[in-house]
Amino acid sequence: MFCWSAHLFQRKIRGMDALTAGPPGSSDPTGSSPRALVVEDERSIRELVSNQLRRAGYDCLAVGDGREGLDRARSEPFDVVVLDLMLPGIDGITLCRAIRREGVNRDVPILVLTARRAENDKVLGLESGADDYVTKPFGVRELTARVAALTRRIHRAQPQVAGAPRALLVARDVELDPAKHLVRVRRTEVNLTPHEFELLYQLASKPGVVLTRKDLLAAVWRGQAFVTERSIDTLVRHLRCKIEQDPTSPQLILTVWGYGYKFAGS
Ligand code: CA
Repeated sequence: MFCWSAHLFQRKIRGMDALTAGPPGSSDPTGSSPRALVVEDERSIRELVSNQLRRAGYDCLAVGDGREGLDRARSEPFDVVVLDLMLPGIDGITLCRAIRREGVNRDVPILVLTARRAENDKVLGLESGADDYVTKPFGVRELTARVAALTRRIHRAQPQVAGAPRALLVARDVELDPAKHLVRVRRTEVNLTPHEFELLYQLASKPGVVLTRKDLLAAVWRGQAFVTERSIDTLVRHLRCKIEQDPTSPQLILTVWGYGYKFAGS
């Protein structure tokens, strides 16, 4: 059984230099630091991660209980969330889904931190709306760099794709407004995660055109190595549950067997 210890963590950071790259929000003209929420029940890990994020320039709030993490995430805006999966109160997967479902942090980048290594657990973490996944034991420098990269990437990705501002898109019964991150299906507002939104935008902007899983991985996850093509199938399944009248007989996002997916042509 894997046993985590503060000793191992301390060994990992011994001799570590201060990070040279600041967080994305450190250039904020208002001068405010980006806010990070860390939810981790093991005190040694919680302190290590939060201290390291503070050293990297984040205003970091660290809590040790899933329920408290959810209360905080519902009431205060954050720029990034780092979550453990195995937590007292509310587990990390449930917490991740709850953050994605509603509230001020619905679009916040989430990094899942866990001792689990199995592929199923990684898929489960991503299905629940996490953007990245780090398994313990990890190096704190790597973790901090990934948190910063994730925050920068999400901040960059939301207003534009391929360098161009994105316009309101209407395809069949679906309206997507990238500027407001707003989706209406059959005139009813639907809450999508950033990845679900991106997947739908990619498909709906090219009705009738087949996109392969590889195309979609590149567009939605932008080459992140930890994601597999199976993640696309899972994301499509979730998206269908939110936008199709009958997800078992989809009329909007169609499977093209052996190739990938397409949005129904008009
Ligand atoms: Ca834990």
